[in-house]
Amino acid sequence: HAKPDGPGTYVYFDAAMNRRVARSLLIHNELHRALENGDLQLFYQPQVRISTGEVVGFEALLRWQHATMGWISPAEFIPVAEQSGIIVQIGEWVMHTAARQAAQWLARGHRNFRIAVNISVRQFVGQDLPQLVDTVLKETGLPPHMLELEVTESLALHSVATTLAILHDCKSLGVKLAMDDFGTGYSSLSYLKRYPLDALKIDQAFVRNIPQDQGDMAITRAIVAMAHSFGMSVIAEGVETIAQLEFLRALGCEDVQGYLFSKPVPADQAATAFAGFATYPAVSDPVI
Ligand code: C2E
Ligand code: MG
Ligand code: MG
Ligand code: MG
Repeated sequence: HAKPDGPGTYVYFDAAMNRRVARSLLIHNELHRALENGDLQLFYQPQVRISTGEVVGFEALLRWQHATMGWISPAEFIPVAEQSGIIVQIGEWVMHTAARQAAQWLARGHRNFRIAVNISVRQFVGQDLPQLVDTVLKETGLPPHMLELEVTESLALHSVATTLAILHDCKSLGVKLAMDDFGTGYSSLSYLKRYPLDALKIDQAFVRNIPQDQGDMAITRAIVAMAHSFGMSVIAEGVETIAQLEFLRALGCEDVQGYLFSKPVPADQAATAFAGFATYPAVSDPVI
């Protein structure tokens, strides 16, 4: 049975907490160095149109291989970067790099695809996001409609008027806007009618348990219906199985992104995805 917390408990928590703090300090310092030394990379994950199997886009995702610490997940270093504010400089590098890559693919004759970049909420506060977008588009010559900004629901925690103005300024430059991780945030649904969004990305938390979890399937169904009634398209994240793909297809979800087709991969590998994918399961020989 449970013993009252002894001193050992505190020692344990202190030690664990110290390790966590030390690790994030280390990551904080190393991240500055990584940005300066060019140690950050972008991987690209294809986004596939369910109806045709065509690749309609790529999401740019940060990767960091540290000389001694090995691969560090963005799930670990992005929060540190957001807290310290260095996400602003990293975000600039990401947008430039991703747009340059997309412009290169375009120059090689690939058309009709978008490049999606993740935008931290820190890039909205006290920063000139529309100016950055404008600069990047001018420098790379990428047509604006080929760039998609992925924002998150945490935007809603900031002044609605300010955020809305920034989103509209970005939209008027011609870029696309998608709401990432939809359904997991804190915001009310009322922003859907106010934010100039082109697409909702269904969070992988809902996709993961299709087709076992009736609740997640109901949520997914509702998100697709809601997006469509607002004239937005839907992209599902974390699609790993044909059963998930078929469920999303039946709902009329336009696009998917997930390990079923490809993990995020370096640019040269990602480019092979322009050949497209088969989105139909192999049909077994008809029984005669
Ligand atoms: P996100 O924007 O929601 O990106 C999708 C994440 O799901 C990626 O994780 C991707 O690798 C992963 N994923 C894609 N398909 C599957 C699948 O089928 N199964 C599973 N289990 N996972 C899948 P990743 O690359 O580790 O990135 C994690 C998060 O870090 C991103 O979530 C995003 O919030 C953040 N992040 C990554 N790159 C950037 C960036 O350049 N800027 C900012 N601000 N955040 C970034
Ligand atoms: Mg994203
Ligand atoms: Mg997401
Ligand atoms: Mg996510």
